[in-house]
Amino acid sequence: RQEQYRALRDLPSLTRDGVPISLQLNAGLLVDLSHLQETGAEGIGLFRTELQFMVAERMPAAAEQQVLYEAVFAAAGDLPVTVRTLDIGGDKVLPYMKAPEEENPALGWRAIRIGLDRPGLLRMQLRALLKAAGGRPLRIMFPMVATVDEFVRAKAIVEREKAHLARHGHPLPAECRLGVMVEVPSLLFQMDEIAAAADFLSVGSNDLMQFLFAVDRENRQVANRFDPLCAAALRAFRIIAERANAAGTPVSVCGEIGGRPLEAMALIGLGFRALSMSPAAIGPVKAMVLSLDAGAIGAFLEAELARTGDGASLRPALAAFAEAH
Ligand code: PEP
Ligand code: MG
Repeated sequence: RQEQYRALRDLPSLTRDGVPISLQLNAGLLVDLSHLQETGAEGIGLFRTELQFMVAERMPAAAEQQVLYEAVFAAAGDLPVTVRTLDIGGDKVLPYMKAPEEENPALGWRAIRIGLDRPGLLRMQLRALLKAAGGRPLRIMFPMVATVDEFVRAKAIVEREKAHLARHGHPLPAECRLGVMVEVPSLLFQMDEIAAAADFLSVGSNDLMQFLFAVDRENRQVANRFDPLCAAALRAFRIIAERANAAGTPVSVCGEIGGRPLEAMALIGLGFRALSMSPAAIGPVKAMVLSLDAGAIGAFLEAELARTGDGASLRPALAAFAEAH
């Protein structure tokens, strides 16, 4: 199997009907970058910066952050890296950071909320990123954005940092693209506005499913209660793909769902053309892409989603489609 997947590495990632599907990697540590070469992935679709903070014994200093980002950019070479700002709180706690006790941490003070309320931490990270990028293009993505306004405020913080660095004679990135994680369901009802405001979007399906179905992603008793291949979830994904595509805003999926071949097939059928996943998933997903007819899965899903909406999983139907094709 591994050998077979390796043989696919240098083939272009195209469906049978010629639709390019960008396959990228999720990463969080410098060692993950070695998988770029190995898998033939087109870039890092999600770099989880909180990993550095979680393995440290104290808050990493600005210089330490910058060193990591420089090493990551150097290891990626010309391939794009999408860096997500600190996504702490919820299931990701920093033992050395004082945070209030919370009844519902997943719904609490976390991610961009901390970044906006206590911008010192976010500003330090943004400055480290801008400096590390030097003249190369930079892609920054914000986690847990619930309203367009939060993103607008985060963008303003980036602009301030850029102005600060420019004043001090630092080179600025050739271009700085700012994106939003779509992982809080409220964004589904602001799709046109967020697609217009953001340079790119990436669906965090792990959290989106948690919040859409009100199931704690860490609680095994309920985590798998709802199948992301049921009509309600697929329609949610479809809204995101359709609205982003209509606005011409690049959109990807970087949650675990994108790394499972059957789920990835469904996402392509709904209109997604970029998926970011763990290194081990690239081979199986690429094998699926190469054998897929994107037009056929699109038509199939459209008919299925018009036919059924009762909460039943479309998994058997999708598996049958995969088998027949
Ligand atoms: C997600 O929520 O799907 C995601 C990619 O981010 P994380 O798993 O780090 O919350
Ligand atoms: Mg998330």
